[in-house]
Amino acid sequence: MGSTENSHTTDRRFGTLAVHAGAPHDPSTGAVIAPISLSTTFAQTSVGKPVGLYEYTRSANPNRDNFEQSVAALENAKYALAFSSGSATTAVVLQSLAAGSHIVSVSDVYGGTHRYFTKVAAAHGVHVTFSPSIELHVEDLIRPNETKLIWIETPSNPTLGLVDIQAVADIAHRHGILVVVDNTFMSPYVQNPLNNGADIVVHSVTKYINGHSDVCMGVAAFNSESLNERLSFLQNAIGAIPSPFDCWLAHRGLKTLHLRAREATKNATAVALALEASPHVLAVNYPGIDSHPHRAIAKKQHRDGMGGGMLSFRIKGGQKAAHDFCKFTKIFTLAESLGGVESLCEVPSSMTHAGIPKDQREAAGVFDDLVRMSCGIEDSEDLKADVLKALETVVKEAKINGYA
Ligand SMILES: *Cc1c(COP(=O)(O)O)cnc(C)c1O
Repeated sequence: MGSTENSHTTDRRFGTLAVHAGAPHDPSTGAVIAPISLSTTFAQTSVGKPVGLYEYTRSANPNRDNFEQSVAALENAKYALAFSSGSATTAVVLQSLAAGSHIVSVSDVYGGTHRYFTKVAAAHGVHVTFSPSIELHVEDLIRPNETKLIWIETPSNPTLGLVDIQAVADIAHRHGILVVVDNTFMSPYVQNPLNNGADIVVHSVTKYINGHSDVCMGVAAFNSESLNERLSFLQNAIGAIPSPFDCWLAHRGLKTLHLRAREATKNATAVALALEASPHVLAVNYPGIDSHPHRAIAKKQHRDGMGGGMLSFRIKGGQKAAHDFCKFTKIFTLAESLGGVESLCEVPSSMTHAGIPKDQREAAGVFDDLVRMSCGIEDSEDLKADVLKALETVVKEAKINGYA
C-alpha cells in the first residue's frame, strides 16, 4: 500500500506534492476531494475477486492509502504505513525485531517511546541502550550480531538538541544496522531523514502532519521493499490502524503543512529572539538561531536552516516562575502536545517529563525552570507581546508576594 506514483516524487516540489499527492479525483463522480470510505467490507464479484482494490478495511482502506501515498511523497519515500498513534507506530517497528535484538537510542526520546523501550520491549526480549551523545559513542555501544536498530529523535525533546543523522547512519550502515528517526518535531517540510541516510522515518501525525490538534495518528515511511513486506504484514496482523475519518482529516491537514511549518518557524524565531533579549530569561533553546550549539547541523539538515515551531527556555525565578509564566500567557495555552495551529506552552519537569527522576532529568538539561513552547500560526507580534507581558507579570507577582 501507500507506494507513490513516480511522476509525483520525481519532478514536483513540496507544496505541490502536499496538495496533490495521494489526492486523485473520484473516478465515479469527479469529486475533487475523496469521499470518506466508511465501509468496513468491499463486495467481491466471485470468490477472491473484489470489485476494486479493497476487501476489508483493516487490511487496506482508500482513505488510508491516500494518506500514506501523500506522506511517502513528502518524505521522499517509496512506502508509508499509517497507524492509530505515533506510539503504535513505534510499537510496530519494535515488534518487527526478533527476540534478542538490541537497540541503541538517543537518551532524550519522547516519554512514551522511553516507556515502551524500558517497560514493554524487554518483555519481547528486545533491549535498549541509551546514549546522551550518540554521534560520539554509537560505535562503542553496538553489539556485534545483536544490535539491529539505532533510534534517533532530532531535535530532542524538550531541550532541542540536534543529532547529525548522516554521521550516525554512516556508522550504523558499516555494521548493517538500520537507522530510525522520529521526525515529529520537524515535520517532513523542515527535515527529510531518509535523505540523510535514515532507513525509516516515523511521525506522531497527531502533531505537525495533522496540525489541528484533532486527530491521534502515526506513520512510518521508508524505501525498502522488504521493510514494506514486514511492516505492512504487522500493520494488518496487529491491527493498530487509524480510522478512515482520521486518515481523511490528517490528509486534509497535511495539505497545508508547508504553510504552517513556515509560519510556525517565523513565529518561533521571533519569540526566541525576544526571549533571548529579555533580562528575565536564563537561556533559550532554539535551533533556528545562531546561539544554538548545534546550529551548523540545522543549517545542513533542515530546509533553509529553519528551526521549526518548537523552543524551550529557562526562566529566572525557578519552578514557581515557570508555572506562573504558563498561567499568565493569554494566547499560549497551558497544555501538553505540540504542532497545532494554536500556540501551547508547558513545564516539562512538572508535566511531560515528570516521570523521569530529577537527577536524570537535570543531566539532560530539563530543569524545573524550563518552559517548552509550541508556536502556532497566530500573528508573531501578538505571540511576542504575549510572552513579554507574561514575563513581566511573573516578575511583578514575585515582587508583590516577596519571593523575588
Ligand atoms: C507525541 C509524540 C509521540 C507519540 O505520538 P502519539 O501520537 O501521541 O502516540 C512520539 N514521538 C514524539 C516526538 C512525539 O512528540
